[in-house]
Amino acid sequence: MHAFSGDGDSNTIAKCMEIISYGGRIFKVESANHAVRRSGTTIQKLQGNTTRFSSPADIKEQKLLKQKIMKLIKRTLNAFKSNDINNHNQPRKEIVSNLISDLRNVPNHVFGKHYNCGIFCKRKNIETDNTDYSVMQSSGLLNAIQYEIGKTLVACSNTLIWNATNNPQKLL
Ligand SMILES: [Zn+2]
Repeated sequence: MHAFSGDGDSNTIAKCMEIISYGGRIFKVESANHAVRRSGTTIQKLQGNTTRFSSPADIKEQKLLKQKIMKLIKRTLNAFKSNDINNHNQPRKEIVSNLISDLRNVPNHVFGKHYNCGIFCKRKNIETDNTDYSVMQSSGLLNAIQYEIGKTLVACSNTLIWNATNNPQKLL
């Protein structure tokens, strides 16, 4: 039932859409992998924004973001995997809302603030230094990342749960 089988180098949302059939209905969904890649690109653009990082003090944040960008992407993918609708018997609404809170928590976790982390988090009790988090928060960069995640992923979470593991065959 794949209208498009993504192999990685497509840029447009339209190209990333897949058609899946579920319970006799047809859904057009974007694969979570593609959505995460799209989100990674927008965060990378933030990091490359030279007007944002014009003073020497800003370089610290920029470096921090550069260091953590892969972690942000990896953790985002994990949020989709752990909220895969195929592996849960909860109502869809609950899965979507869990996914959203996990996505919202990704930047917090990555920059060292674990108060909202679930059992997945292995750094909760060992990482107590909030310096990175404070730098990201006071610079406004944390908000900017949250905004991009909101726009590219949270806004689409309703459809993205259907293709969380990029394995829609399981739905058929
Ligand atoms: Zn954590």
